[in-house]
Amino acid sequence: MKEDYPRTLMELERRFSTDDACRQYLFQLRWPAGFVCPRCGGTHAGPMARGRWLCRGCRYQAAVTAGTIFHDSHLPLTTWFRALWYVTTPKPGVSALGLQRVLGLGSYRTAWVLLHKLRRAMVRPGRDRLQGLVEVDETYWGAEEAGAVGRWTEAKALVMVAAEADGRGIGRIRLRRLSALTRPQVQAFLHAAVAPGSLLRTDGLNVYRGLEGYGHDRHVQRAQAPGEHLLPRVHRVVSLMKRWLLGTHQGAIGHDHLDAYLDEFTFRFNRRKSASRGKLFYRLAQQAVQVEPVRITALSQHKG
Ligand SMILES: [Zn+2]
Repeated sequence: MKEDYPRTLMELERRFSTDDACRQYLFQLRWPAGFVCPRCGGTHAGPMARGRWLCRGCRYQAAVTAGTIFHDSHLPLTTWFRALWYVTTPKPGVSALGLQRVLGLGSYRTAWVLLHKLRRAMVRPGRDRLQGLVEVDETYWGAEEAGAVGRWTEAKALVMVAAEADGRGIGRIRLRRLSALTRPQVQAFLHAAVAPGSLLRTDGLNVYRGLEGYGHDRHVQRAQAPGEHLLPRVHRVVSLMKRWLLGTHQGAIGHDHLDAYLDEFTFRFNRRKSASRGKLFYRLAQQAVQVEPVRITALSQHKG
């Protein structure tokens, strides 16, 4: 399917004014080459009421939303599509309160859950790892961030940052919260985030020693000129990330939810040069119906 997405809010409103229209769009994204049964892989099916498909092979009744973030939601798809628009169109995204207001949702909680489900779709299953020269460092979030609202009683969260070099600039990034700065945790993060054969640049901390499969460029702290940083890309990412957490989300984020916000920031950052915001809408809708096989299997067994 060629990349087909609304360019303006008016186009979105016109095009996705019914749940049927939304379902058709999702169908194209999920099954671009035609229906594939989530249970048996069969490709022959007949349409049923309310956008469901009856598999001729195994008689499974499949909805295009089955196993996706839209599954089992009491919200109409038209609301989901507007949420997709508001989360992708403004560059910094939208807070739960902002989304509640703009969509006229009954509760803050509904808006909050909706955003969290969308964040789950922001990480593409099987995404490529970073490569080439990659700066790696750790940072801390919480406790005494200037401007954080409300009482903050939790200790600071440890966040690992990997930033790929793109010439003198920054390519893609990966972020993850770790429970402790230990070598096994750091290595697990790096193996998931960075392709083997890449050159890691770190501050030479012990946890980065003995990494197999990577080149290692240790930049040990020496006297730096003011405003100069050992790892300038990571430093830049960290400052943008903190500004975003404090600005868009007022900084009031518990550690257990921080991962989801890191995923959202990564999604935005890695698409910051995208010429069209509508393209982000497309990308997120597409990822929202890309389901990991393990989840489909679990769902089929449950339904069966
Ligand atoms: Zn089937």
